[in-house]
Amino acid sequence: MLNRLKPMVSVLSILSIACASVASAAQQDTPITWYGELTQGALLIGQVEPDSQVVYQGESLDITDDGYFVIGFGRDAALNQTLEVRDGSEKTPINLTLSKREYKIDRVEGVPQKTVTPDPEQVKRAKAEAAKVWRARQTDSKRMDFMTPVRKPAEGRISGVYGSQRFYNGEPRRPHYGEDIAAPTGTPVYAPWSGVVTLAEPDLFYSGGTLIIDHGYRVNTTYLHLSKLSVEVGDTIQQGEKIGEIGASGRATGPHLDWRVNWGNERLDPALLPQLYPLATN
Ligand SMILES: [Zn+2]
Repeated sequence: MLNRLKPMVSVLSILSIACASVASAAQQDTPITWYGELTQGALLIGQVEPDSQVVYQGESLDITDDGYFVIGFGRDAALNQTLEVRDGSEKTPINLTLSKREYKIDRVEGVPQKTVTPDPEQVKRAKAEAAKVWRARQTDSKRMDFMTPVRKPAEGRISGVYGSQRFYNGEPRRPHYGEDIAAPTGTPVYAPWSGVVTLAEPDLFYSGGTLIIDHGYRVNTTYLHLSKLSVEVGDTIQQGEKIGEIGASGRATGPHLDWRVNWGNERLDPALLPQLYPLATN
């Protein structure tokens, strides 16, 4: 009996070693292959058998013809997540455990008081602008730009990280959801992926010159504090194309690019994107 079991055990362990080398984040014995890091703030690409369905929070996710789908987990996402893969009548629940992030606390002093406590007119303006930004992110195109390895949008020093919580003049603010790249005004900003421009505003109250680009399957990126915009709403842009220039417009203490990545309304960490590189679209 023992002798007959032994070969089976060694075949299984070879199989699990093979799986682990294909996808670092793969969970054992699941019908999903994951690309990315299973952690808070991450954008992940999953691959299932084509023609199967993936259900998350009661909603069926869009799947490419090759069986790829995207999912994003926000800054404070629950560590235990459940998805369901449906293949014909077969339903397989998938339990994911995300690793917990530690976020940085920043204190920024010397912000002009007029922007720390905006007057009612400014609050009204900022609210209307936030609605515009929200609408620009409600895209659901079938572009697959996010499948390409991402490139850095600008050269410069990383001066702010995702998830950090800021205190302006001692007052706590909502967490920071972008990656800040400090560089002189006029430094070019390049598209990290191809996409379609869904918002191009030269002067929003908080974020100044602002761009939003749709990359498909609810993935979009945002660029803040630009001194110059080089593209317009509706423009189709190629990866690496210049889209604008770094500035200090809106509420900024100095020239920098603040760039963000969203999956729908989930705000994700741009610093985790380079880890999607194992994929190629063809
Ligand atoms: Zn920022």
